[in-house]
Amino acid sequence: MPDTPVVTRIAPSPTGYMHIGTARTALFNWLYARGRGGKFLLRIEDTDRARSTPEATQAILDGMAWLGLDYDGAAVSQFERRDRHAEVAYAMLAAGAAYKCFATQVEIEAFREKARAEGGSTLYRSPWRDADPATHPDAPFAIRVKAPREGETVIRDVVQGDVTIRNSELDDMIVLRSDGTPTYMLAVVVDDHDMGVTHVIRGDDHLNNAARQMLVYAAMGWPLPVWAHIPLIHGEDGKKLSKRHGALGIMDWAAQGYPASAMRNYLARLGWSHGDDEFFGDAEALDWFDITGIKKAPARLDPKKLEKLSGQHIAAMDDAAILAGIDGYFAAAGKPATTEQDRARLISAMPCLKDRAKTFPELLEKARFVLIDRPIGRDEKAKAALNSVSNGILSELTSHLQNATWSRNVLEGILTEFADTQGMKFGTLAAPLRAALAGRTTSPSVYDMMLVLGREETLSRIGEATV
Ligand code: GLU
Repeated sequence: MPDTPVVTRIAPSPTGYMHIGTARTALFNWLYARGRGGKFLLRIEDTDRARSTPEATQAILDGMAWLGLDYDGAAVSQFERRDRHAEVAYAMLAAGAAYKCFATQVEIEAFREKARAEGGSTLYRSPWRDADPATHPDAPFAIRVKAPREGETVIRDVVQGDVTIRNSELDDMIVLRSDGTPTYMLAVVVDDHDMGVTHVIRGDDHLNNAARQMLVYAAMGWPLPVWAHIPLIHGEDGKKLSKRHGALGIMDWAAQGYPASAMRNYLARLGWSHGDDEFFGDAEALDWFDITGIKKAPARLDPKKLEKLSGQHIAAMDDAAILAGIDGYFAAAGKPATTEQDRARLISAMPCLKDRAKTFPELLEKARFVLIDRPIGRDEKAKAALNSVSNGILSELTSHLQNATWSRNVLEGILTEFADTQGMKFGTLAAPLRAALAGRTTSPSVYDMMLVLGREETLSRIGEATV
């Protein structure tokens, strides 16, 4: 146990949906904090005003809620903290760690063009870095950090190890623009510091930013957080994730009917492992998760694995959790909610459904027989299975069922014996029976259906099919 309580965060930029990479980063941070009695915070990095619509923020909140990642306190808006960011820029200025730069865009572009023509570095070197304040004009200025130009900066990263950057590669980045707005590089550090973040677990696309962000920590004399830059998720083909790989938003997966618990399990295994364990729940993940188990190589999406885990999770869920999961699936897929009657019917059929479905839509498809009302619709194959021969078989069978004890053993005995004495294969009897009970030729077993439907409904459906 560390001395200071762990505080982690997820800091997504609102882009209109929650990318699965963001979801996985959120999960890692959540597991790390919650597994250690720490805090997990949410900060919406909404400084890009054009993209940061209320809908885009809502998409993140929806993704977090569906995935079951609860955070401490309210979501923090980075944009709303802009005055504080500016205050820190001025504090850096006062400390001599930053300076006012009066260069105009035209001058900066001219500098770059000259550098390009001379084949030198295009990193902007402002003439105002060491200028005497007495020479400052009365004009708009940006605040730039005074980055070291010699030596090296070492990013101590608990996943990547020590990563060394030559300081000659660092520019005097702007922390406060001439219009008074903070840059991302400043805002992220100020927010992490003020929010007491102790561990920053994020995608390794931010690794280079860490070197620049360290300048702000150093200027303010703030302690660095522990950095863990995790490899990105790649597609099945090993390539960087892009739209070509299909659905990348977490809510798309919700709309496909995977339970959130399976998604957590699957995402946890993308780039992290605990021995050979594949199927696990939150309690184990919270107990096992540690940064040391994070892999250095990019993780690959594996839809087959997700399907398998999903089936295992559905089988392990209790009825209430499955109903809640179906509610989440319907909401994500934009379908109407289940009725009370459907819920009761689903529960009555649950024992024969949940061991056999990999997703909620698959479970609902298997549950179709119990959700439909008479007169039941039949597909073409079911219609074809009902003919004059099956008519005879079904009416004959009815007489055997009328007074039977309604238990699996007895029903199995009756049907097997009936098929035997009629000299027919069991399938010849089962096909019209399925068509009668389910309106389909593929369905759960005839015994499961008869037991779930009960005698009265079973006989009514058979009667309906023999008219
Ligand atoms: N807002 C950044 C992003 O969405 C994350 C920044 C961070 O985690 O430091 O990629």
